[in-house]
Amino acid sequence: MLLLIKNVEVYAPDPGGTCDLLIGGGKILRMEADIRIPRKYCEVIDGRNHKAVPGFIDGHVHIMGGGGEGGFATRTPGLPLTDAILGGVTTVVGCLGTDGYTRNMAGLLAKAKGLEEEGLSTFIYSGSYGLPLRTLMPSLEEDLLFIDKVIGAGEVALSDHRSSQPTFEAFAQLVAMARRGGMLSGKAGIVNVHLGDGARGLDFLRRIAAETELPLTQMWPTHINRNPHLFEEGIAHAKAGGFVDFTTSTLASYLEDGEIPCAKALRRMLEAGVDPGRITFTSDGQGSLPDWDRNGRLQDISVGRVTSLFPAVREAVQAEGLALETALRVITANPARILKLRSKGQLAPGMDADVVLLSAKDLEVRSVVAKGQLLMKAGRPLTKGRFE
Ligand code: ZN
Repeated sequence: MLLLIKNVEVYAPDPGGTCDLLIGGGKILRMEADIRIPRKYCEVIDGRNHKAVPGFIDGHVHIMGGGGEGGFATRTPGLPLTDAILGGVTTVVGCLGTDGYTRNMAGLLAKAKGLEEEGLSTFIYSGSYGLPLRTLMPSLEEDLLFIDKVIGAGEVALSDHRSSQPTFEAFAQLVAMARRGGMLSGKAGIVNVHLGDGARGLDFLRRIAAETELPLTQMWPTHINRNPHLFEEGIAHAKAGGFVDFTTSTLASYLEDGEIPCAKALRRMLEAGVDPGRITFTSDGQGSLPDWDRNGRLQDISVGRVTSLFPAVREAVQAEGLALETALRVITANPARILKLRSKGQLAPGMDADVVLLSAKDLEVRSVVAKGQLLMKAGRPLTKGRFE
């Protein structure tokens, strides 16, 4: 069955005027004015008063759950399909976290395959917080070469009390393995780097550029908005040619302690002269949000949501005054390019039919199409995970 979205204002993410979108076989087939197909061959969606934007890419989600920093009862649950649908997230990259022991690569791969069967596009990173990396095959290079869903490594933790305190040499070797495996497999081979609040900040990443032949773009550091010091380092990192990722799941206490809201962080980076193509948002969905006191004692723990991803983009438009096409990039075209997801992140004929319809007035997620399948229509999800 074909799907025809009529008279919709397109942000691809660049503004593309008003046209019709014809979808079939999981792809965008045509984007033109006044496409006419007999009704018996297609479902028609009225796109008037809506904006069509690329399905959102969330490059850092603990799809099988994470956490556990406060013991077994604080392990967080896995990603429910409904959260992705409500959030307009059509592509997720799954990661492990602090706990790469009770959770492992086999379970992560299985969860990713399950979500794919349920309608999303899914990928995973190899490893977890610690080094040496625990991979599925004997090496990271082989994970990248032989497991389709593996597109990089991580999240590897640096400058954090929960990291494995790797030496610079161990970290550089990981980036080298990721680069080699990425080149041989034609994938990104990106290293997703978790940054904690530690004073060392982005030191290891700077040293990669200064002391090795490896490019800054082999790494994708996340949580860069978590404190003012790291944020300032992030500006310099992006200006030197690196990527920076901000985390949209947050707690009121994090913001009180100096975390910079993503919308504001985006505006400030752009004002500082950072190339808009270097900035991304991810949700850290299903990851734990531990609340530590001054002495490092765990006070409380809650869970991140992928539904936080797009509201941060909307806030960048509505509260920070950024253009929709600029803000949209951080969850569409930019992550697609960084992760080398060549059929994702843009609306154009031949690309995967991952499309979100936003209400034109208040930018609410109203309808969601993933791989050509309508998962939400007029604010109502049409499917849910098997055990939801
Ligand atoms: Zn993290």
